[in-house]
Amino acid sequence: MDETIIIGSGMTGITCARSLANAGQPVRVLDKGRRVGGRMATRHVTMASGDLAFDHGAPYLRPSDPEFAQILARAGARPWPDGPDQGRQVGVPGMSGVALALADGLDVMQQTEVTGLRWHDHAWHVDTSAGVTRAGRVILTIPAPQVTALLGATHPFHADLARVVMVPCLTLMAAFPADSPRPFTSRSDPSHPLAWIAQDTTKPGRAGAAVTWVAQASVAFSGEQLDAGPDDIAAHMLPLLADVLRVDPARALCARAHRWRHAQVGTPLGQPFLRARDRTLYAGGDWCLGPRAEDAWQSGRAIARDILDGDHVD
Ligand SMILES: Cc1cc2nc3c(=O)[nH]c(=O)nc-3n(C[C@H](O)[C@H](O)[C@H](O)COP(=O)(O)OP(=O)(O)OC[C@H]3O[C@@H](n4cnc5c(N)ncnc54)[C@H](O)[C@@H]3O)c2cc1C
Repeated sequence: MDETIIIGSGMTGITCARSLANAGQPVRVLDKGRRVGGRMATRHVTMASGDLAFDHGAPYLRPSDPEFAQILARAGARPWPDGPDQGRQVGVPGMSGVALALADGLDVMQQTEVTGLRWHDHAWHVDTSAGVTRAGRVILTIPAPQVTALLGATHPFHADLARVVMVPCLTLMAAFPADSPRPFTSRSDPSHPLAWIAQDTTKPGRAGAAVTWVAQASVAFSGEQLDAGPDDIAAHMLPLLADVLRVDPARALCARAHRWRHAQVGTPLGQPFLRARDRTLYAGGDWCLGPRAEDAWQSGRAIARDILDGDHVD
């Protein structure tokens, strides 16, 4: 049986890989990033006073499907209550911890970028930063605009991919001394340039020598500043955060920015995946169904089911 290559080790890719591997299929996951998890990401910053961790992608998950809730629990997710809001789940020691647990035992190659795909001699030839690899089936679980970039504008998936809208998000990761103000656990204000702010130190297993904050800019602010350099973005966002927290920005122990060009789904595809007629090529991700990691899980699961059902019928 020819190997299946899954491109992307985010929630979609890992979910799909797990189901296929459990069914005995040979499957390998390739991802260009340093760590498993994609946008379920945790950035570690080493300081003289100790290591700091920031969930700079999805800050929490709110499972609605009981099966997804069980999967998260098995992956070590824990509640992150904020006042009466008890439904939030977070990874421990960070959001990437959930993906890491889900990927346990899978064949995953990080820091391997896929740069091209060609069907030739009854197989896919996958060009990667580590060389060319051959596969019987390829599953793309990368954001829709990146699928378009890989497949090209003449590919049959193109018209469907072009309907998907993904919005950017600029994220600030900042730490202040332990005695600095902690006015809230999290705050959502879509009308403010910093639309979401979370005190990561309040998440389970995160207490440390500093208070860590993650701020996500609004869609409007993110769009305006997207092409600025990370240092300029951090310099722009830090005073906004300090103003909300009523703290002197000069007291920040660190301030880093991250640019998510394709952070969340604005307009989804409206179906769980795209598939070539011969079932050798699939594309999926959160962008198929909605803006949350649970949508990514649904897409990854649906692709695996389609493949396993199809193999059974064939
Ligand atoms: C700022 C922010 C806030 C969010 N808030 C929430 C929230 O509150 N709740 C929630 O449920 N969800 C939230 N999300 C969305 C959630 O993170 C995503 O829905 C989910 O993680 C998407 O998973 P995925 O596997 O579809 O894609 P991704 O996680 O993006 O995984 C795709 C992977 O593909 C890799 N890749 C891309 N191109 C290539 C290539 N050419 N070669 C190899 N690898 C490649 C990337 O490195 C990445 O690891 C948020 C996301 C962001 C960024």
